Amino acid sequence: MRRFSAFAIAREALRHHEGWGRTWAKRPPKARYDVIIVGAGGHGLATAYYLGRNFGITNVAILEKGWLGGGNTGRNTTIIRSNYLQDPSAAIYEKSRDLYETLSQDLNYNIMFSPRGVIMLAQTHHEVRGYKRTAHANSLQGVSTEWIEPDRVKELCPIMNIDGPRYPVLGGLWQARGGTARHDAVAWGLARACTDMGMDIIQKCEVTGIDRDGGRVTGVQTTQGPIACDKLGVVVAGHSGVLAQMAGFRLPLESVALQALVSEPIKPCMDVVVMANTVHGYMSQSDKGEMVIGGGTDGFNNYTQRGSFQHIEETLRALTETFPMISRLKMLRQWGGIVDVTGDRSPILSKTPVDGMFINCGWGTGGFKAIPGSGWGMAELIARGHSPLTEAFGLDRFREGRFIDESVAAGVAH
Ligand SMILES: Cc1cc2nc3c(=O)[nH]c(=O)nc-3n(C[C@H](O)[C@H](O)[C@H](O)COP(=O)(O)OP(=O)(O)OC[C@H]3O[C@@H](n4cnc5c(N)ncnc54)[C@H](O)[C@@H]3O)c2cc1C
Repeated sequence: MRRFSAFAIAREALRHHEGWGRTWAKRPPKARYDVIIVGAGGHGLATAYYLGRNFGITNVAILEKGWLGGGNTGRNTTIIRSNYLQDPSAAIYEKSRDLYETLSQDLNYNIMFSPRGVIMLAQTHHEVRGYKRTAHANSLQGVSTEWIEPDRVKELCPIMNIDGPRYPVLGGLWQARGGTARHDAVAWGLARACTDMGMDIIQKCEVTGIDRDGGRVTGVQTTQGPIACDKLGVVVAGHSGVLAQMAGFRLPLESVALQALVSEPIKPCMDVVVMANTVHGYMSQSDKGEMVIGGGTDGFNNYTQRGSFQHIEETLRALTETFPMISRLKMLRQWGGIVDVTGDRSPILSKTPVDGMFINCGWGTGGFKAIPGSGWGMAELIARGHSPLTEAFGLDRFREGRFIDESVAAGVAH
């Protein structure tokens, strides 16, 4: 595959950019693969990428029922942070944040990682105690975060009203190396790297059944015919329960729509990401100038990848006190994605009751930030049968009561 460089861009500029070639190959599926990954979202693609890069396993197909990155990966608000409370979470999210720092160079594709800093606002005394506790936990885990006072919050984000009246800003948890990245570019860059290693990315190929012989997976039924495999990785976010049902087991998950919206583009006014979990909203400014705004999940289980009017009202009402300027903005677009939420608000990266079948799901409202770390751990789990990164996130934790409670860090936050 042709590498991107200043020289290559200059050369292509002289020939009307006609020499670049396809970013990922379009091929029909083969009859058999060593590994099939279901779901060409960020987590599925990252799993395939690290299978090839770290373990040399390249006879891999990534099957996608729609289009690559068209699930939550292309619908999220791109917040990247690793300020979680529990040790296993800090390990995988920090690994991920760290991998994001150099992902553009690793993939030779600009994913526009922007470590602009993330503030999680404390607007109740309960949150002050909670975030101070997280800051202490993070320092023991080697994750760089700090508790900041209201004046510093105002200095970092001058458009904010920190004085209330309902919810004055009492401080915040600040992660200076948190930030954002371009979601599509993450999917496209990973897909390009997978193609480069000889893997097949097959779009419009829905998995409709899982073939087993005894207790072992042997392949999948798809809308493009049956495909055999030695190992199967299921990485389909909100549709994980559907795939598990095909394999004959249940997952402790609920699927709900999570929505977001963007405003008209305006001049740069905010160069950090701010999350306000008490009032339930968060905001950052995209490179195009749009204010990217997110809220909470729907209060009922559903599979609708759509926005709804009451969410615009709820989310903007929640944020207007803290960001008065948004009351004068026009909103441009709104959308939804189906997120898969576990009871302890932590993901599942696990073997399953079916031999050779692995599952990666439960990232809920906050899995974009985890894409490279999750792919790294999942690839190791598939290749070797175990990984220190995924060990605590097995399905058996729900049976054994070993929950990884991240309801403060991940229950509403992203
Ligand atoms: C509005 C919104 C805002 C968010 N904001 C943030 C944020 O700021 N920060 C953050 O870290 N996270 C955020 N998230 C969460 C994040 O987007 C997800 O956790 C993450 O993208 C999940 O990636 P994935 O690859 O697991 O899933 P997806 O990107 O959803 O990919 C799964 C893929 O599987 C495919 N699939 C499903 N069924 C089948 C089948 N039967 N056969 C073949 N393919 C199938 C789907 O079409 C889909 O493309 C947000 C999510 C939403 C919806």
